[in-house]
Amino acid sequence: MTLLTQGFLKQLTELPGAPGDEGPVRDFLARTIRPLVDDLWVDHIGNLFALRRGTDLEPRRVAVLAHMDEVALFVTEIDDQGFLKVAASGGVNPRTLLGKVVQVGPEHLPGIILVPPDHFNRDPEVYRKVPEIDALVVDIGATDKENARARVKVGHRILFQTPFRLMGVDTTLHADAPLPIQGRISGKAFDDRLGCATLVALLEQAPYPFDLLAVFTTQEEVGLRGALVAGIKAQADAAFVLEGTVCDDLPGPPGEKRFPTTRLGNGPTLTQRDRSWIVHPPLLRHLLRTAQKHNIPYQFKHPNVGGTDASGFARYQGVPVAIVSTPCRYIHGPVSVADLSDFHNGIRLLSAAFADLPSLLAGETSPAALRDF
Ligand SMILES: [Zn+2]
Repeated sequence: MTLLTQGFLKQLTELPGAPGDEGPVRDFLARTIRPLVDDLWVDHIGNLFALRRGTDLEPRRVAVLAHMDEVALFVTEIDDQGFLKVAASGGVNPRTLLGKVVQVGPEHLPGIILVPPDHFNRDPEVYRKVPEIDALVVDIGATDKENARARVKVGHRILFQTPFRLMGVDTTLHADAPLPIQGRISGKAFDDRLGCATLVALLEQAPYPFDLLAVFTTQEEVGLRGALVAGIKAQADAAFVLEGTVCDDLPGPPGEKRFPTTRLGNGPTLTQRDRSWIVHPPLLRHLLRTAQKHNIPYQFKHPNVGGTDASGFARYQGVPVAIVSTPCRYIHGPVSVADLSDFHNGIRLLSAAFADLPSLLAGETSPAALRDF
């Protein structure tokens, strides 16, 4: 029996988890991992911690992070006709929003992001432009302002309503069946529920020689806030950040030559540096050697794209940190696509790397070992 069933990933990705409002995701994860860990607690910013003790006599402590929140919108105003004006919570791509189905507020009211009628404005200059987010409204079917205000308040979160789907050869979804090894999946919040699912799978394979401190963080999408708070107290000897990351291996204009950030199906992604952090060279070397030794495919993420909880968690303690991600097409929009072999190979890579991590922590993460990888 494995926890990594199709039903598990469906539930995990379909749950709403706006930044600062991660409760449903946290409750589900806490219920799922409670039997696997020795201790479980939540801090004031909502981070969920779980400790699984290691087998060494004097075990090191390794933190493994994944963020529970997803990009979202929130209500800023209700107009006289009962339409909701909105703002973004995190880096939402406005080009993906028009006409999308959303869920509004704690009652998950169905809503539609406005679709500009095409008879309305034929001026090509205006028509071809993507509206800014503050020009969009959400229709919840209200008849007027009072009718909308009876159900929605300013500040309520708005999340995408996207079903989880298997794509590829066998698309039948049996809730209790293990996730297929190959094929592709689509759904919302893959950034970073695929990281959360990876962390659950790693807890399921514990114990390791070190104490594993799982940290499911909050508010990553609005500035790595949960990870910053967690990193101050965690006292970890090393940390791994698990992410769903940008995958832009898409058809472009004819003749355009680009180097994609990552490619779907080329393996889990290792980061050397992104916009906010430079990965600890000995930890990156360890991941590389592990992948080569066990014949696990991997790819490097194109440098200087994006940022992760690594820079939040490590900022004040300087803990050695590495980042492993699953490439996801169309992240920060209503629906993403990921490759299951990338996802499974990420779990294989991390679990193999964890097995002989203590010897590395005993020597190679010393400041003297900080030469370029
Ligand atoms: Zn993320």
